[in-house]
Amino acid sequence: MSWRPITLMAALCLALAVPGTAAADDPPPEVEQRAGTRAPAEVYGLSEPAQAGDPVAAAKAHLADPRYHIDPADLVPLRTVVDGRDETVRFAQRHRGVPVFGAHYLVHFRKDGDRREVVGAGGRFLTELTVDTTPAVTRESAAAIARIALIRDRRAKESAKAETAGLVVIPHGAGQLAWHVVLTGRDPVAGRPLLLDAYVDAHSGRPLFAVDRLRMEGPVTGTGETAHGRTVELNAYQRADGAYELRDRARPMWDGSDGEILTYDAAGGDITAWLGAGVPADAEPARSGTLAFGPEHTASGAVDAHWGAGQVYEFYRRLGRDGLDGRGGTMHSVVNVTMEGEPFANAFWDGTKMIYGGGVGDYRSFASGLDVVGHEMTHGVIEHSAGLVYIGQSGAMNEGLADYFGNAIQVDSFGIPMSDPNASLLGETLCTTLPPEQCAARDLDDGRVAGEDYLGMTVALDYGGVHYNSTIFSGALWDVREALGGASADRLVYKALTEYMTPLDDFVDGRRAVELAARALGMSARDRLTVSRAFDRHGIKPGWERALRTDTRVLIDGITDPYARPDVAGGRYVVSNSSPDVVEPSHILTGRVGGGKPVRLSENDRWNFMPATDGKRAAWISFDATRQSYRIHTRPLDRSSPEKLVHDGTVVIESVAIDGDTIAWDGVGPDGEHSVWVKRGDAPPVDVTAAAGVRGYAPSLKGGRLAYHKVWTEGDAAHNAPAVLDLESGAETVVPMPQGSVSAEPTLTGRHLVWIYDENGDGRAGIMRAAIDGTRTAVVVPDGPQAPTAYWFDANDAFATIGVWPDGTELSNDILLKIHQVPLSGGTLQRFSCNRGLQEAFASGDGRTVVWLDGTDGNTDLVTRDRPAGRCRGGA
Ligand SMILES: [Zn+2]
Repeated sequence: MSWRPITLMAALCLALAVPGTAAADDPPPEVEQRAGTRAPAEVYGLSEPAQAGDPVAAAKAHLADPRYHIDPADLVPLRTVVDGRDETVRFAQRHRGVPVFGAHYLVHFRKDGDRREVVGAGGRFLTELTVDTTPAVTRESAAAIARIALIRDRRAKESAKAETAGLVVIPHGAGQLAWHVVLTGRDPVAGRPLLLDAYVDAHSGRPLFAVDRLRMEGPVTGTGETAHGRTVELNAYQRADGAYELRDRARPMWDGSDGEILTYDAAGGDITAWLGAGVPADAEPARSGTLAFGPEHTASGAVDAHWGAGQVYEFYRRLGRDGLDGRGGTMHSVVNVTMEGEPFANAFWDGTKMIYGGGVGDYRSFASGLDVVGHEMTHGVIEHSAGLVYIGQSGAMNEGLADYFGNAIQVDSFGIPMSDPNASLLGETLCTTLPPEQCAARDLDDGRVAGEDYLGMTVALDYGGVHYNSTIFSGALWDVREALGGASADRLVYKALTEYMTPLDDFVDGRRAVELAARALGMSARDRLTVSRAFDRHGIKPGWERALRTDTRVLIDGITDPYARPDVAGGRYVVSNSSPDVVEPSHILTGRVGGGKPVRLSENDRWNFMPATDGKRAAWISFDATRQSYRIHTRPLDRSSPEKLVHDGTVVIESVAIDGDTIAWDGVGPDGEHSVWVKRGDAPPVDVTAAAGVRGYAPSLKGGRLAYHKVWTEGDAAHNAPAVLDLESGAETVVPMPQGSVSAEPTLTGRHLVWIYDENGDGRAGIMRAAIDGTRTAVVVPDGPQAPTAYWFDANDAFATIGVWPDGTELSNDILLKIHQVPLSGGTLQRFSCNRGLQEAFASGDGRTVVWLDGTDGNTDLVTRDRPAGRCRGGA
């Protein structure tokens, strides 16, 4: 996953006088500007006559006014929402005919009989786009690049299919032309299907980012049973052969040819058969010989899915919406899928339909929770309205709105009062034995507040915490529903979603959207105060991120390259980074750990990543997508000579090490074998793992020696251990490790070889060291039940630094990866920084100094600290 929300500067509230015809007793119209575009983010308080007739034409005519800096020819109407007297037209921006990613602009009218006036307008329209829209990279190349570069896991990559959907302009500066590629397959690590919208630069071929389209809920484990014993009416359809099928044509959206609710039983078939747009051509809805759909349809989840879809449809119809897409389009549900022969305990909206696994363990089919059905289908409504991007704060709002409406649909359908303690729980009815509060995935009344409770995840984790931070936003909305009642609150939130929010909004934008909707609805001052106070109570106020405390020095504020991995030596760091909106090719930066501005090291315009340094020079990898080639470059840190190309090949390179004029790297060669290569000076590279059945990982270089993680087989037995190669003599020492243990991350310091090891495969790891020739091994931190759950490792001559997943399951910043340090001479691991968020991808510098990526303050920063913190508040 490689996309951060575009963080635009906080909009400035300027209260500019906009020429218009505001009545004397109205407050003057207000304008909020957005950085990087001349088109206003929001104009409200207008009262200007608009032309009658077609609302789209009227909206375009209004936006033609020069104060908007918008060329109406660049606007494509998406949909018009009518809500009583309010009429909102939503446009998508095109640049030379190509859609602009995330750029929606809306015009708000109020109608009084035939009279129509403009009351506001706003959204995102990028006025500075000049990019050429002729692609240099073919559709086919883009598909291949996206598959290779934008799927992280190697096994997922092998099974994935890539299809190019079309061109899009990424809104940054002059714009960036990209191919949109849809990637489908399986993610064997996460145990879930893969469905990514990936973007590849259509001029350079550089892979840009990928957005997860599956709106999956948090992982649950278990196996299924029966559904609830509830009797419900099902709208079915009698076929020519006399059988009945789950095909509902009784809703107002049915227009004689489209607008059905259809439910399919996958009968335990694999999920991949159902991924992609629509349903397979030969798929038939679940069928029964009689009008009474039997217990097999209860067990499969078909009854709940079909009935639930009808409930969702009727809920949104009461809000004035015709179906998920707002145009009466057919709603598909597929129940009872499996994945790789295993039960699939989850549910998701895939962009065109609902997919449900069968029940597993204590969990019934996910179709049996009406709030879950409502939640997943609301993702469809969001996709066809505000289109909130599924990452960071906009992703958490997407989740939060799905929770809000999912719960609203459930409490309304069953007549549950808002005061019921279970009303705010999501998924609380899915379990056969667990009590509701334990069964539920989330509680909208969990009282979480942005400043105190925002989980400082970097984008590598849950897309920046979209599920974990959602209740901060949904909690405010649920408070409003508790205070104002369902009818009033649902109308307000729905109006904010469909008429004010845009794809890249953050929490504060979301608050403003709800407040503007309240104003547009003519809500009383008292009710509007209730709304504002709900957001205040949940800490959603402009600038809330600034209140998060840290004990580190920031070297680079805003690391946006998801592959950024710093390295440090001799008081200098190297790291890759992209632009704030992630659309520039990532480049290599270097700076002093002591402070000062970083300078740019890489000179090419390709995608640069994984830099390493020996304190004098840096080496790093670049990817040339058009030729599918990986390169290694070097350059002195003082930039006294230009970037030098030292290797160019088709082998996928994963990491690189440098020491003087020696470079080493590892990667997967054309034969699929993972190998380690060494290149000394101008000599050609040598594969040090060329022997049959030998693989190598994670090279480390120092003082004429190479250490790497060696994996080999003897007979039927697999072995792995740290290996040290003397590059001058060619002599190799393999550190003897007990059979069955796993070693990783061998690191050469000046005097030692240091690595982590797991004796029993329980995921907990100790730390070992040896002399630089691999002899005289000693334990620094013993493995065992008390050993840390380790992730990431580095060492220097005096200290080993290790990333530790804290024990605990209570959802908080306390369970996110934290850096610990221990002297190589032995001792106890000490917490290194009390920063509360995720601390990852660290490198150890001189003495105790560590440099790392930190997610604490609401985005990802490169930070440093020069001593352990010891104990932190909370005792960790
Ligand atoms: Zn969701």
